[in-house]
Amino acid sequence: MSASIAIQGLGVERRYGGFRALKGVDIAVKRGEIRGLIGPNGAGKSTLIDVLSGRVRGQPGKVLLDGKDISALKPQERRRLGLARSFQRTNIFPALSVEQQLRIASWAVTDAGIEEVMAELNLTALARTPAAEISYGDQRRLDLALALVGRPSVLLLDEPAAGLTVEESHGLATILRDLANRWNVTVLLVEHDMQVVFSICDGITVLHLGQTLAEGGVAEIRADKRVVTAYLGT
Ligand code: ADP
Ligand code: MG
Repeated sequence: MSASIAIQGLGVERRYGGFRALKGVDIAVKRGEIRGLIGPNGAGKSTLIDVLSGRVRGQPGKVLLDGKDISALKPQERRRLGLARSFQRTNIFPALSVEQQLRIASWAVTDAGIEEVMAELNLTALARTPAAEISYGDQRRLDLALALVGRPSVLLLDEPAAGLTVEESHGLATILRDLANRWNVTVLLVEHDMQVVFSICDGITVLHLGQTLAEGGVAEIRADKRVVTAYLGT
């Protein structure tokens, strides 16, 4: 049964002091799927990505990659198994060139395919340019490129379009949809632009106050009154 599930969290909890940021979340992303992870600020989206990627530990809770329990593995070990992530804030070094940063990211993996990743994300012409000198939109594509080095099988993306114009967000969304199709990458996408989520996701999980509020296809979630209410904060 778990064969078609690429990444799964089971009963994931996370406390910060006495505060329960995640209260037993179950999530399963099928192979090849783009699943949107949405919810109001503070819902626990980034914390869930942190637990799945290994940046923080679930307390308790399990993380399975292709059905294998990886809960005890460090982020770099998960990365080597094909589980990559990006961060909500850009994670790049301003002084290094686009290509230098991709080379650093490739230390964690074999067969990095850096040229290919740059080509996919329209970064080839900027390979030798320091990150500080490229536009913010290009920097966000570099963030995505860093996660794609080594062609991971699963991508956890935390607001990759944050700070982009509407047009740039939609451009990024198109790239993501295309990558998921052609590279057969499984994607868990945290994104607040609902237009983007509704246009490229196969399924959606809604988090609210550290719990799963709703789960389903795009049409189902759009029509769900609880989701609308959670977003309106009433
Ligand atoms: P989201 O990404 O959905 O906006 P987060 O996962 O960032 O939400 O945060 C969920 C809750 O956990 C928030 O109330 C946040 O303040 C709290 N939180 C997150 N990280 C920490 C931390 N390192 N220390 C204390 N509280 C945290
Ligand atoms: Mg967040």
